This record gives sequence, structure tokens and C-alpha cells, in this order.
Amino acid sequence: MASQKVKEICQELVLSQEALKEVCDRLQEEINKGLGKESNPEATIKCFPTYVRELPNGKEKGRFLALDLGGTNFRVLLIELGDKCTMESRIYAVPQPIMIGPGDGLFDHIAECLASFIKERNLGTELLPLGFTFSFPCKQEGLTKARLARWTKGFKCEGVEGRDVVELLKKAIAKRGDVKIKICAVLNDTTGTLMSCAWKNHNCRVGLIVGTGTNACYMEKIEKVELWDGDLEEPRQVIINTEWGAFGDNGCLDFVRTEYDNTIDRESLNPGKQLFEKMISGMYMGEVARQVIVRLVAEGLLFDGKSSDILQEKGSFFTKYISEIESDEDGDFNNCYAILEELGLNNATDADCANVRHVCECVSRRAAYLAGAGVALLLNRINEESVSVAVDGSVYRFHPHFHNLMVEQVSQLIKPGIKFDLMLSEDGSGRGAALVAAVASRTSAMR
Ligand code: BGC
Ligand code: MG
Repeated sequence: MASQKVKEICQELVLSQEALKEVCDRLQEEINKGLGKESNPEATIKCFPTYVRELPNGKEKGRFLALDLGGTNFRVLLIELGDKCTMESRIYAVPQPIMIGPGDGLFDHIAECLASFIKERNLGTELLPLGFTFSFPCKQEGLTKARLARWTKGFKCEGVEGRDVVELLKKAIAKRGDVKIKICAVLNDTTGTLMSCAWKNHNCRVGLIVGTGTNACYMEKIEKVELWDGDLEEPRQVIINTEWGAFGDNGCLDFVRTEYDNTIDRESLNPGKQLFEKMISGMYMGEVARQVIVRLVAEGLLFDGKSSDILQEKGSFFTKYISEIESDEDGDFNNCYAILEELGLNNATDADCANVRHVCECVSRRAAYLAGAGVALLLNRINEESVSVAVDGSVYRFHPHFHNLMVEQVSQLIKPGIKFDLMLSEDGSGRGAALVAAVASRTSAMR
């Protein structure tokens, strides 16, 4: 059991049901602003229409390439859709200097990885369709045109904001002259996640990522999207990429944010931006926990008041530590001791471990409840009897209780009578990208 004093200090990370209901209501307001034509320019949650109007029917076929940029890794994939879906992929590192260097460098690097993937597998003879999963906020002007609104997470490449990333990729490919591909779609990872799940599950209407960053998309009726400037043909619906990571950027979440959240924001690559994301996602959760722990040490409530050099370093408490510590069996602290040792804290006691675990639980519970409040709002908007939510991302995948905590919170805020489930969606960025490309070619063939 954590000590009383530690619990008191952690209390500000504990959100009441009233607060979470308020978060849900404010999200509704912000999404309405995002979807409104006049209010959109001022809105923080941009609600970008994706131009994906149709869900897959399970019969999509063909060979596709996909690129996946936006999480911890960059991947190139080859996907074969048929009765089953098979894929091969390769991960390529994106070195830190490229993540924060000039945009040309980034796209040259992507083109180079793509070229070497194609060469290795002798794919040079076919003109393969390609889906580009680009997991940053983009204003789409069509299925193959996406202007980067701003960088998030660990990226900050000069000269890309405001530009069409498909154009930049095409340029980098043309410059090399050794790759022939046809870019059929650019999509967000949330869209890929939704599509990948919808392939076999016809109730799927929401795609959610809780990984390095967080975001959600959902299927909305065209009549609710005042912003929409595309055609009004059937189906009169479109997937909206909410970009809810930016929720709170206008101050509307200050009532739940803490001094830790402020510090993290101030020291980030994008101060003042993505404030909801900074309370929820894997890029920041570990750091929230570290700051609380550092404070507890300073107040003499942990490790006899003695810190370590590593613990004092920003970023040293990885988000995966939270998952590992909370994976310890009740009453043993094996992972916790091992992690504290890695951090140079060799004299921890069981009492210290119980307190550290409590901090982790408060941080992850807050994240899961906030994400859950967001999902509840989307389900209430969709207002169908039974809806599946496709979920991916490292936090959701690897945290031992995240799924259950989210289900608990969605149940609290959902309208009576709506049934839902949260499903792990396999490989949205690969299969999902192929499906968007496949559905796009089906639709254009029909017209
Ligand atoms: C980006 C979103 C993305 C999410 C999850 C956020 O930082 O803005 O576009 O979907 O991360 O990868
Ligand atoms: Mg990803």
C-alpha cells in the first residue's frame, strides 16, 4: 500500500467522474467547432475530413505497398489482400537528426528506404499502388493530397508545414529515378486502424491510437460536416480525423491539468500544443510519472530522500516502465526493483516500490480515463446500437490494464442502450493503408 502522504500528493492526478463528464462535454463543444465552417479556423480540434467515404467489404484484393511514418519507427510494407491478408515489412530507423532536420532530408530518407525495399524484393517490374500512412495532423484536399498542419510528437522538420506531403514524397522519388510506384492514398494511422478492423467487423466506426501520440477518427454523416466541400453522392458519410490530441490547446482543459503537465509542455518541442496528447500518450506518460517521483524524493517520501543522477534526467523514466511495474503480481515488486536499479536507485524498499507503483497507477489511470471519456463522446455522437472501436498503439497494447480501465470509463459516460467493444486492430498502418488504396480504386472504377 502506498503511504497516506504519497496518496495525497498524487490526488491531483485522480479525476472525479464529474470532471470526466465535463471533459466529455467540452470535447463535444470543441468537435462541433471543428466541424463548423465558420468556427473551424479558430477551432483547436480540426476535425479534418479524410475523403475516405466507404468501409471495406472484406472482398478487397491485390498487392500494395505501404509506408508508415509517425510513431517510433518508419516502416515499408508489402501487403497482399485476398481471402486472407499477408504482409512483409521492414523497419528502418529515422535518426534523430533527420527527425528535426530539413524536410528534404526526411523525404529523401523515406524514398531511399522505399527504393532499397523494392530492390531487395525485386518488385521493380510492377507498378504497385502505394498507401502512405502519415500520422500527423494534415488538412486533406483529396485522397492523395494532405497538407501538414503542424508537426507533433518527436518530429520538427523545417519546410514541411503547409506543404502537401504526397507532393514532397513524389519529388524525392522522382529525384532518384529508380522507383516506379503509384501513390493511391495518404491517410492517418487512426483511419488505417479503423479500416483494418472494419475489413472483417462491420460494426466498426471508430479508430483510436494510444501510442507515441493519441488521436481518434470516426465515421460521420456528411450533413453534420458543414466543413465538407466534396460531393454529396452516396454514401453520405466520411471518416473524420478529429486530431483530438490538440484538445485543450485553448485552455479548456486547464481545470484538470497539473504543474507536471505544465512542465512537460514547457520543455517540449511544441509548447502550448497537443495538450490532451501530453496527458495521455506514450511519449509523455513516463515523464509525468518521473516528475511526480522526483517531487516525492525531494519531499523525503521516497528512497530516504536520495535521488540518482539518472532519475534527475528528463526522459529517463520510460513509459514502458509503467507497464512493466504495473505488470508485477500483487505483492511482489520484481519488475519495479529491476527498473529502480536501472535508474541507479539501489536501496529501495518494498514501501518505496508500493509508492512508485501508486504513482504509475495514477498516471496510467488518468490517461485511460481521459481517452475513455473521448471514446464515449464519439460513441454518443454516432448513436448506433452497437459499435466497435478499433484501437492500436503501444500504450494500449502493452499496458496490462489500459483496456479494462478504458472500458470502465466508456461505460460510465455512454448513453444507456449503446453497446460497444474495444478491439485491438492489427496493423492499421499496413493493412489499413492497403484497404484505403483498394477501396479508393473500387470507388473510382464504379464512377
Ligand atoms: C498526431 C495524429 C496521430 C497520433 C497517433 C498525433 O500526434 O497528430 O495525427 O494520429 O499522433 O499517432
Ligand atoms: Mg504506428
